[in-house]
Amino acid sequence: MRVVRTRQELIQARAGLPVAGPVGFVPTMGALHAGHRALLESASADCDAVLVSIFVNPLQFGPNEDIDRYPRALDEDLAACRAAGSTVVFAPSVAEMYPTGPPRTAVDPGPLGAELEGQVRPEHFRGVLTIVARLLQLARPDAAYFGEKDYQQLVLIRQMVDELDMGVRIIGCPTVREPGGLALSSRNRYLSAPERERAGSLIRALRAGVAAGPGGAEAVLNAARGCLTDLEVDYLTLRAPDLGPAPERGPARLLVAARVGTTRLIDNIPVLLGEA
Ligand code: AMP
Repeated sequence: MRVVRTRQELIQARAGLPVAGPVGFVPTMGALHAGHRALLESASADCDAVLVSIFVNPLQFGPNEDIDRYPRALDEDLAACRAAGSTVVFAPSVAEMYPTGPPRTAVDPGPLGAELEGQVRPEHFRGVLTIVARLLQLARPDAAYFGEKDYQQLVLIRQMVDELDMGVRIIGCPTVREPGGLALSSRNRYLSAPERERAGSLIRALRAGVAAGPGGAEAVLNAARGCLTDLEVDYLTLRAPDLGPAPERGPARLLVAARVGTTRLIDNIPVLLGEA
């Protein structure tokens, strides 16, 4: 496995890959856990070579967010990438990615970028799409892997790749959870034991929503809302799988965001609406 630090080295490493088959790409912000490892393993299973990026992107953090306390663990991350069979890891500095400060050119996520997570984090998806577009340009993969954990991000990346003809397959991977159901997240380490207990109501709410699916949208939202005690809920919403308005029946997505103490958590789950 090669570790490269500059854009030029990544371009050269990509060009020199001795493979005829597909090249996979897994962008991350590091502090890798089993959720990230599942993406690395899917990419390794499908592709002849796997590129990974580790970069905490300042553009996607708001002025009051946690970029300075965001966990960093490069040595452990490299070991995880090596164990998963990755080929190249790109771990640039902020100065390497933004040598002259924030870029003037950015990818506009459109109206969906201002909803849900975008309501609370107005510049977030612009920052995400801009760095992902750039990383895709550098890595030139055939397929790129993203977690359903960040469902709105996945939908917006599909939208960007489709509408800008970026010519890469976007693979969505199911959310990896702790045994109790809490979705793995680098931010879970900020939770105290009692907060972790309270955070469990997120997945209980989503599962209650799924169970109420045959009763329709109203029943799903009522069942989920009933479980969300003891947390400050930013939103609980039922949408179509592409995050447009929820259908009356058929596949839908239930999404939630809530604060537990000072930690903000998000989660989502597929729901089937209406009688089977
Ligand atoms: P991050 O390092 O938080 O930017 O995440 C990098 C990638 O890992 C994104 O595509 C996330 O959606 C994905 N990811 C994070 N947590 C999980 C999880 N619990 N299960 C599956 N994918 C995840």
